[in-house]
Amino acid sequence: MTKIKYALKKLFLAINAAASAATGMDYKTLNKYIIKLNGLNDIENAVKCISECFKNLLDYEVFGLALNTQDQLKVWVYPALHADIIAARVKEDFKCHEFDGICRLSLDKDVDNFDGELKLDLIPYPIEDDNFNAMLYIAPRKRKLAHHDEIIQIIVASLKTVLENMINIQRLQNAAATDPLTDCLNRRALYKYLDHDISVAKRYGGSLSLIMFDIDYFKQINDTYGHQAGDRVLKDISGLVRSVIRKSDYLSRYGGEEFVLVLPNTGHHIAITLAERLRKKIHSRPVSVGSYEVAYTASFGVATLKESSDIEGLILDADKMLYRAKKAGRNIVMPHHIKSKKREFQRNLCCAGI
Ligand code: GH3
Ligand code: MG
Ligand code: MG
Repeated sequence: MTKIKYALKKLFLAINAAASAATGMDYKTLNKYIIKLNGLNDIENAVKCISECFKNLLDYEVFGLALNTQDQLKVWVYPALHADIIAARVKEDFKCHEFDGICRLSLDKDVDNFDGELKLDLIPYPIEDDNFNAMLYIAPRKRKLAHHDEIIQIIVASLKTVLENMINIQRLQNAAATDPLTDCLNRRALYKYLDHDISVAKRYGGSLSLIMFDIDYFKQINDTYGHQAGDRVLKDISGLVRSVIRKSDYLSRYGGEEFVLVLPNTGHHIAITLAERLRKKIHSRPVSVGSYEVAYTASFGVATLKESSDIEGLILDADKMLYRAKKAGRNIVMPHHIKSKKREFQRNLCCAGI
């Protein structure tokens, strides 16, 4: 009996020693990843770091993170084959139908084999902050030991601090590049991006066009309906233009009621066609302000990059065209369609899907 008791006690001590060695290892792993996490400066890598940390500690079947900021709801998942499961769960938890894309993480030790349905339970860990809320999901393969809960809480708290910092930095950077009323790029950001795109177009022989447009008789809108109505028009026109342009195009608020739209990889004819399309849309869509329907128009100047022109020259060309549009009576695109190259123009339209 005493022999058995002694053997059991020995076994118990051995298990305890092994457990505390395992616990020590887990804390070591945790430490390594927390140090790595604090050295990172972008959200993508922070999520990847956390997913790797969990992989080492609990060897999950699936990892997911949904991050909901004021601007967007973004989701990361590993392995990619479980994306649908995570997507469905995120939609349920965040009560949304769509989100801004799901990123499939690739880990350093990419060893997962997938053979069907998720076999393990997905455990959610919410992360709440004033500026965002997030949900971390894991389905651990390893048995969760007593110390794992504490470790998970440390990871969640560290991730929260890191995300909070990164989101704040991102906001400040965005704020420095955008106009708060219309959410368009400001003039400083326009110059930065345009300068880059002009160099690319020149180096690789691509085309680039620029549309400068200005709301007609805007002062009258302010005077008649009030400054707030003017602000509504500014928001409306920028939203409308952004809803029409391609992802690679960008809109900037150049001055009070003057905007610059940059169209990389776009020739003159396509740019004129787009300007004409925008002109018509603006003309036919009044803005509701209180009980008023405020109709307004805009005039457009189109310019295309030439071999000899630089950023200032290109903007000046568009500005001259805009001036001509105003002089010609407003609610006009300048220059008008150039008919001589009709066939090439129509082919370009087909390519651009217009
Ligand atoms: P035109 O057809 O020649 O362009 O005439 P316009 O009245 O549009 O141009 P003008 O330059 O005479 O007036 C522009 C007005 O835009 C004057 C200014 O008070 C107003 N404005 C500039 N920025 C803002 C803004 O952020 N909000 C509002 N509501 N008005 C603004
Ligand atoms: Mg104006
Ligand atoms: Mg103006």
